Amino acid sequence: MNQKETFTETETLQENDVASEKIYCANCVHCKLVPSPAGIQDQFYLRVRCAAGKWKKKLGEEKIHKYFTVTRRCIDSCDAYEPMGETEEFIKQLKKDLPSKDETYDRFTHETYQF
Ligand code: SF4
Repeated sequence: MNQKETFTETETLQENDVASEKIYCANCVHCKLVPSPAGIQDQFYLRVRCAAGKWKKKLGEEKIHKYFTVTRRCIDSCDAYEPMGETEEFIKQLKKDLPSKDETYDRFTHETYQF
């Protein structure tokens, strides 16, 4: 790829609010969606975790994040990153599809509840 093509691609990515040089964990095979009990019978929250064990709290415990914030999990580099596909389109679509805030889901109907 020549210099002009590189510049054009970067410009396109920035227009869509996706930084080309960053790694988006949401586009990594190790970023997993997991249920977390909501404390209300048969309801759960959606959380994301890094199955490669890269997300840690200061004291070393695993850190999980709220699903609706997953597109914010963006890092400069990761030796375990395994992209699942083309980043720009994936993140753009995910931003459209994500809920705007934390929601609970019914275990059986998958109906959502917002608080
Ligand atoms: S392996 Fe790295 S890039 Fe993949 S989800 Fe974990 S921290 Fe993110």
